[in-house]
Amino acid sequence: MKISPKFSYDAIVIGGGPAGATAAYFMARAGIKTALLEKGAPGRPKCCGGGVSSRVKKIIDFDLSPCWETVVRGAAFSWRGGDRRRLESGEELGWLTRREVFDLFLQEAASRAGAEVRYEERLWELEQDRHGVTAFTEKGPRRGRVLVGADGAGSVTARRLNLKNLDSFGFGLEARLEASARVLEDRKGILHFDFGGPSAGYCWIFPRRDHLCAGVAVRRPPYSTLKRELKNYLDREGLSEAWPPSWLRGAYIRGGLGLGFLRRGRCLLAGDAAGLCDQLTGEGIYPAILSGRLAAEAAVGFLAGGRPLSGYDRSVRGRLRRELVWANLVSRAVDLFPRKAYELVFGEPERARSLFALSSGRTTYGRLLRGRLRSLAGSGFRRPRGT
Ligand SMILES: Cc1cc2nc3c(=O)[nH]c(=O)nc-3n(C[C@H](O)[C@H](O)[C@H](O)COP(=O)(O)OP(=O)(O)OC[C@H]3O[C@@H](n4cnc5c(N)ncnc54)[C@H](O)[C@@H]3O)c2cc1C
Repeated sequence: MKISPKFSYDAIVIGGGPAGATAAYFMARAGIKTALLEKGAPGRPKCCGGGVSSRVKKIIDFDLSPCWETVVRGAAFSWRGGDRRRLESGEELGWLTRREVFDLFLQEAASRAGAEVRYEERLWELEQDRHGVTAFTEKGPRRGRVLVGADGAGSVTARRLNLKNLDSFGFGLEARLEASARVLEDRKGILHFDFGGPSAGYCWIFPRRDHLCAGVAVRRPPYSTLKRELKNYLDREGLSEAWPPSWLRGAYIRGGLGLGFLRRGRCLLAGDAAGLCDQLTGEGIYPAILSGRLAAEAAVGFLAGGRPLSGYDRSVRGRLRRELVWANLVSRAVDLFPRKAYELVFGEPERARSLFALSSGRTTYGRLLRGRLRSLAGSGFRRPRGT
């Protein structure tokens, strides 16, 4: 195939999810000639709970409120339907959205900033040389000076770059359920999480504007039991009549040790493609948006200022990776002692409330765990005087 010696673009982004659309937006806004290639059609539905924590406000500099269906003001927790705890907060903890709306909104923002958004264009193959990258898509080859692979958990980019990231793949199901106005009102603004059902995971109900989004997510197989787990959970919640759902879809969740490679040559990986999903909670939208922005900043620094792309590794390590490593370690402990972990976190309202500070970005796993260790050292673990 003959390729023009001229660059078609400065930057090519593969995938129009939160990571890719954010990267395209920030690059285009900085004056970089950017193409965003998305294999789906505009407004394509995606399997996801659509819970977005309020800390995304610190990364995105335009108004996201048209995407929000519900403001999240609290959370309820249970252990197999019992031992229930409910916590509310005076602040906006986050929002619920539908991914078909949210992703399109971000893609349109990228387009308004100047990115060329190309739908129904799937990446097949990649080639890099000293001067740039060629993305072979179903619509032909496209040439760029840098490429951001943000094509999700099944990333073709990561595979073509042979970036084996020691990632582990979890799996989640999303069901959309009809519910009466009374049920929606009772649950409004409160996310419900139920533990103790599926091993290495949890079930949830997120009340959207006109339906309940219920689901189950686990960190490891077996996946064949998930539908049954979800049905059992809904029975426990008194929602048996909502089954079967009008929509039921599943997708992989790509998390990992948070230690994998993010870059090869002129190609960077962001979001799920880089295995940046939080292993403990399954939250992937915030890390996708943050890594998308960091990838854009590294690409702009490289293209406009000649700075090495290795700056991307450093910024992800500083802003995200340490947290993902903590999440991974804690998730392993939780999987070993799930009931103890539930009692430890939710047994004391103040401790459970600290999760709110996580979602708004006021604290980090690192700080929370260090605080917990200090308080243990200061109480039971302190050696008695004189011994
Ligand atoms: C059931 C379930 C529930 C979840 N709930 C939540 C939640 O409530 N909150 C939360 O924060 N996270 C949640 N997650 C995780 C979250 O969905 C992901 O972490 C997030 O979507 C990652 O964003 P991304 O941009 O990296 O990838 P994606 O959102 O997967 O976007 C990748 C994009 O790339 C496109 N693409 C793929 N391959 C190609 C190709 N070859 N060429 C061109 N385009 C391509 C895809 O069509 C897609 O649009 C959930 C996940 C699951 C499975």
